[in-house]
Amino acid sequence: MTTGSGTVQVVRSVAELEGIREELRGTERTVGFVPTMGFLHDGHASLLAAARAQCDFVVLSIFVNPKQFNQASDLEGYPRDEERDLGIAAEQGVDLVFSPEADDLYPEGFATSVEVRGLTDVLCGSEDSRGAGHFRGVTTVVALLLNLVDPDVAYFGQKDAQQAAVIGRMVRDLAFRTRVAVVPTVREPDGLAMSSRNARLSEAGRQTAVVVPRALERAREVALSEGPAAGIEAGRAVFRAEGLEPEYLEARTLSGLREVEEASEDDWMLAVAVEVDGVRLIDNLPVEAGTGKGAGR
Ligand code: AMP
Repeated sequence: MTTGSGTVQVVRSVAELEGIREELRGTERTVGFVPTMGFLHDGHASLLAAARAQCDFVVLSIFVNPKQFNQASDLEGYPRDEERDLGIAAEQGVDLVFSPEADDLYPEGFATSVEVRGLTDVLCGSEDSRGAGHFRGVTTVVALLLNLVDPDVAYFGQKDAQQAAVIGRMVRDLAFRTRVAVVPTVREPDGLAMSSRNARLSEAGRQTAVVVPRALERAREVALSEGPAAGIEAGRAVFRAEGLEPEYLEARTLSGLREVEEASEDDWMLAVAVEVDGVRLIDNLPVEAGTGKGAGR
């Protein structure tokens, strides 16, 4: 079924998407792809803007992927607002929105999962966190979507740094022809990284949540002068002052997610996951060694 919303074409079936992709192949237009779980905000919009600027045809997918949720309540409570999302898609000049049903993407008998080892055992993949199963859900759906959409470039946010690293690895290992582009994190005026999950914070929780970017800024400042271990300790102290204990706060390389011991190492980040007001928030600050500035993404 195709419905028009402004200038955006909405496709809900895999078969229809495959037909449109086949037609596009004849035109040699480049395809940019932004996979999301919807409830769009300015972070998603910046991914769409990058795709619009660099590609001829922009595909946005909206799919709340059941395979990447560990808890049914988290899946059910995930915010959704398709009408608003389609308005944002139209504003951003998206050519096609793919919004499939789970049964269509994962029909009866679907038996395959894609697993990237190692990179998914740490940070959000550790047993104390969401577990490697979360990333298996992510890589399985992204592999499937990349095969269906067959984009020239797929856009991911630095906000989900581990996800970007895992997908970058998958795309190299399995020789997808798609290039992965990572777009810088978009923040609220007070520094909180934009996230669909922020909508779940109470007013008080939203105020407390600003501790996340503040702790990361503090950790980066100290890390650059006294080393990553001291930076992590300083960041933890900022959380502690708010009565919060992060699930993790670690210094790791951007692409290999290896633990970093010297601030002079290349391309690393301070990454955190913390529960604020019952909402699990993640964020990170990339560090350009020796400059005291964020890296270029
Ligand atoms: P989600 O809908 O949360 O699965 O996110 C879809 C894509 O948007 C992912 O590649 C995210 O990393 C990216 N994204 C989410 N929040 C932000 C943000 N604040 N800035 C930049 N990209 C983001």
